[in-house]
Amino acid sequence: MRTPREHRSSRAYRTARTLMFGIYGTVCHWCGHPGATEADHLIPLSVWPDQPIDPHALRPIHGVNGNEGLGCPTCTRRCNQERGASLTKPDLNTSEDW
Ligand SMILES: [Zn+2]
Ligand SMILES: [Zn+2]
Repeated sequence: MRTPREHRSSRAYRTARTLMFGIYGTVCHWCGHPGATEADHLIPLSVWPDQPIDPHALRPIHGVNGNEGLGCPTCTRRCNQERGASLTKPDLNTSEDW
């Protein structure tokens, strides 16, 4: 079983990520503004760690990586972090593993 870390660091994932930006551009699927720099899994890796690596399973999203921690240049939301937090079950004592 592939771990989320292995998923993200694999060569196939980097290829899928590049393909995804080619297909979907850089409009963030979370806030709808351009300039997204990260790939977000439609089904989070935390939910389905062993999912196939597929550009169509990814969407552009604003994150703090590669953007000096600023998130979206239009609305300043840190969409990837927001989304991640919104999917965290409050009763689930998650370790800050990522
Ligand atoms: Zn965004
Ligand atoms: Zn935005």
